[in-house]
Amino acid sequence: MNRKYRKVIIAGNWKMNMLPSKVKRYMEDLRGAMPKVKTCSVVLCVPYPMIPALNKAARDSRIAVGAQNVNEHEKGAYTGEVSVSMLEDLNVKYVIVGHSERRQYYGETDFGVNAKVKALLAAGISPIICVGESLQQREFDLTMDHISYQVKAAVHGLTPEEVRKCVIAYEPIWAIGTGRNATAEQAQEVCEHIRAIIRQGYGARVARSVCILYGGSMNSKNAYELLSMPDIDGGLVGGASLDPAEFAKIIEATNQE
Ligand code: PEP
Repeated sequence: MNRKYRKVIIAGNWKMNMLPSKVKRYMEDLRGAMPKVKTCSVVLCVPYPMIPALNKAARDSRIAVGAQNVNEHEKGAYTGEVSVSMLEDLNVKYVIVGHSERRQYYGETDFGVNAKVKALLAAGISPIICVGESLQQREFDLTMDHISYQVKAAVHGLTPEEVRKCVIAYEPIWAIGTGRNATAEQAQEVCEHIRAIIRQGYGARVARSVCILYGGSMNSKNAYELLSMPDIDGGLVGGASLDPAEFAKIIEATNQE
């Protein structure tokens, strides 16, 4: 982390878990367990039906409301989809884009990710852009090539100011939901590479301020070490964010430097 130049963010991704009726209790528990920490933005990316309950329960707290996907079109005949303006109207501040589960199960492409990123930025919502390699790509020594491609495609056509507003999450696919996290060194190596790509395309000032997260089986035991790396500015936390006490401990692990 480097608080001098950039935001520290711990974002939870509930995926398709929890119930709207359970959000109030979760938030009471999280707010009760919330440590006193240096500046750290806490975000909960929840399924759409839970957003109103989370808005209510997160009032007057430091917790920002996030979503897990969005449609890139403004409005119209896209049955089952949710637009940027709908999320904006619900006070959503962050949206996960291009999560590997969406790429794998719902055919999301890098070009689609780029369209979503642009639509979100136009509305002042920060995209959390997920990139990450498969185990096979890592074994074939293709990690950096793959990450370069994904990052370049995601931010294509953005202005430097827009890139600064993006959050990029490095999530190795082999570490998501598997209990097998990347080592701090592996995660740092890729996050440093992501910052270098941004530097090449947008200059040192933008690269220095863009927030890069690590995601993939982050928990209260490995968070401190991962977050102590210079290019890891926070975490995108799946399974461990469902337990408020565990999530609070991960937030506490940002209390370093
Ligand atoms: C995720 O879904 O973004 C994630 C990192 O999941 P987990 O923490 O469960 O590996």
